[in-house]
Amino acid sequence: MDFLHSQVAALQGRLAFVAVEPIPWQTYVLAFSWVICTFESYLLLRQYPLYSKPAPPQVLAQHFDQEVFDKSQKYGKHKAKYSLVAGLYKQVLDTVQLASGVYYPWAWSVSGQILGKAGYGAEYQITQSILFVFVLTFTSTIPTLPLGLYQTFVLEEQHGFNKMTLGLYFADMAKGWALGIVFGAPLLATFLYIFEWAGDRFVPWLMAFLFIFQMAMVVIYPTIIQPLFNKLSPLPAGDLRTRIESLATKLSFPLKHLYEIDGSKRSSHSNAYFFGLPWSKHIVIFDTLIKQSKPEEVEAVLAHELGHWFYYHPTKLLLVSQIHLFTILAIFPAFRNAPPLLRSFGFPEDVCANPPPIIAFLLYQMVLTPMEAVVGMALNAVSRRFEYQADRFACELQTQLKDDDMRDMGKRLGRALITLHVENLSTVWVDWLYSAYHHSHPTLTERLKALESFGGEPVDKLETKKEL
Ligand SMILES: [Zn+2]
Repeated sequence: MDFLHSQVAALQGRLAFVAVEPIPWQTYVLAFSWVICTFESYLLLRQYPLYSKPAPPQVLAQHFDQEVFDKSQKYGKHKAKYSLVAGLYKQVLDTVQLASGVYYPWAWSVSGQILGKAGYGAEYQITQSILFVFVLTFTSTIPTLPLGLYQTFVLEEQHGFNKMTLGLYFADMAKGWALGIVFGAPLLATFLYIFEWAGDRFVPWLMAFLFIFQMAMVVIYPTIIQPLFNKLSPLPAGDLRTRIESLATKLSFPLKHLYEIDGSKRSSHSNAYFFGLPWSKHIVIFDTLIKQSKPEEVEAVLAHELGHWFYYHPTKLLLVSQIHLFTILAIFPAFRNAPPLLRSFGFPEDVCANPPPIIAFLLYQMVLTPMEAVVGMALNAVSRRFEYQADRFACELQTQLKDDDMRDMGKRLGRALITLHVENLSTVWVDWLYSAYHHSHPTLTERLKALESFGGEPVDKLETKKEL
């Protein structure tokens, strides 16, 4: 019995020891970032040999001539090499920042000094927090500048996609920074203010605030921000405009404006999308897509996009993002006042004793990385499902609307997807695991196979929607 007691006592002692032993957060964050980096490199190494295949898969063989296929393989190989090197470079940078144990505390102290020079004291914590984020963003942008320049002016340039000049590149960057200050600083200030003001009840208040902000962005982004980078002009009258307007009318899609965007100013990659509030939607089509595809094919791309609208995909994704945000905010209090967390990242004792919310939140986000990786893959899986659903929607319009103008939608969409793929020199052979991790869309081969299988099956919810 004595032996047992002494064993239990020893075990309790050890457990107590475990309980008070601070978790080495910084080591954990660092180790996990290496796990992710290694995994991503492994995925690239799985994908890499596929760029040496001599011919496209059977389904695509008739659509790709050898020259285009070879070009896309070369482009893919170049991108893969770039990603591998860029990924490792960024990882080394992160490691130096983290392992040195001085970077984050340094940024906090520098922002305090700037504040002090301007004649303000540490009581202006929100201002210091904004400066802190600015210092961090600025100092981490500089070392990655060469990567961005290489990607645009060497990689994209060599394969014929880059349409940017150096001047435009830096002008975009300056605009990005200006926008970050104009929109980001007040946003962050409000975020921190609500945090201070609401105390323990910050979750619903912050959720409400962020939701209003997101809704405001739906209006502000296309009207104020996007025009700073691209020119949106009304799509001229003609076959394409008539087709899209009639498609929108048939589906009761509340189309307010139909734009063409000069995507070709920066890149010849092409696309189409819609946005707006539930009662007033805008459709934007890239000039490159219009140039590359026939009007009836662009119409099929739009039919796919309207499928997303029909099934409330953007709303569902917004809901998921709100749940995600709620989870993040709801767990945060456990890390809000955790001096050991700050201590393990090298912050001085006075900061650890009373952690500024911005630092606690930043470190907390780093701790969350594993969860975020899983969430990212789950979101990709959901998004792929949505893509299939939207493709199916387009295919079944003829039967659903009993409208022969909608015939061959699947074939037209297929042709448009192939053109997009060929023009963008997108990768033809894709490793499944690589794709599951990185891609929100199914591969071209998968989509073409699915499009064939969709022919003629009814979409059961269409009638219900029309009544609404
Ligand atoms: Zn889609």
